[in-house]
Amino acid sequence: MRIDLHTHSSASDGTESPAGVVAAAAAAGLDVVALTDHDTTAGWDEAAAAATAHGVALVRGTEVSALSRGVSVHLLSYLQDPADPALAGLIAQTREARLHRGRAMVERLAEDLPITWDDVVAQQAPGTVVGRPHIADALVALGVVPDRTAAFADLLSARGRYYVPYYAPEAAEAVAAIRASGGVPVFAHPGADGRGRIVPDAVIADLAAAGLAGLEVHHRDHSPEQRARLTALAERLGLLVTGSSDYHGTGKENRLGEHTTAPEVLDAIARQGRVAVVGR
Ligand code: AMP
Ligand code: FE
Ligand code: FE
Ligand code: ZN
Repeated sequence: MRIDLHTHSSASDGTESPAGVVAAAAAAGLDVVALTDHDTTAGWDEAAAAATAHGVALVRGTEVSALSRGVSVHLLSYLQDPADPALAGLIAQTREARLHRGRAMVERLAEDLPITWDDVVAQQAPGTVVGRPHIADALVALGVVPDRTAAFADLLSARGRYYVPYYAPEAAEAVAAIRASGGVPVFAHPGADGRGRIVPDAVIADLAAAGLAGLEVHHRDHSPEQRARLTALAERLGLLVTGSSDYHGTGKENRLGEHTTAPEVLDAIARQGRVAVVGR
């Protein structure tokens, strides 16, 4: 069984449609794939239909943006009720905040570069959750950089002069909202220190007390040292350990199935979630 529990479609910052991600998962030989777009469930229905058509099992989820004392935290929510207002309300607020933040970053960039907000809008389908990758796509279209990776290396870096943060809920509040909506919260890439600051063990312990179910230990943004630290921490706190690709289509180098999750871990997630795994 090959299980990949973290992917993105064009409902957020992936480059393939939700059905396209599921088709690619089938072609890559995966048995189970999770669609986890940033702060939205908009891709779920299209992905579910495609999962049935391709004979792949689908875990419906969301990668929820949060903050812990100013440090960006991403929480994967699996199998929540998308209509439950607890989480739906939080992510609706975050989508709004992402829009304002995107405009603010483009205003800063426009002081030095020939970019407008319309250039960014032109890179997205209607209803897409906006993120820095769409600003990157606009910069590519304008000929400023060759690809997304080059845009993130400098212009869009969290450590760069054009960066603007966006409002997101406190991580403990997000964990509680995910649980209240019947979702299963797993901390995405908690040791990815190349992207920006990461949270210490004590914060992860607090989140475990607040209802966190697991840690995404096996992820390409983790060094061997971070994997060792997080494996030990998961064991100490009684948390599940997952592994995933964080696939974004052609927008990033991450390949489907490059890291995977054990079947018994998926079983534990499925038992705790309020909605079913499609096709299983
Ligand atoms: P944002 O959510 O707007 O802060 O943008 C962060 C997103 O950009 C992450 O979810 C990543 O998927 C994406 N990202 C980060 N670094 C890169 C990179 N080097 N190349 C492509 N996408 C990236
Ligand atoms: Fe992303
Ligand atoms: Fe993430
Ligand atoms: Zn992700």
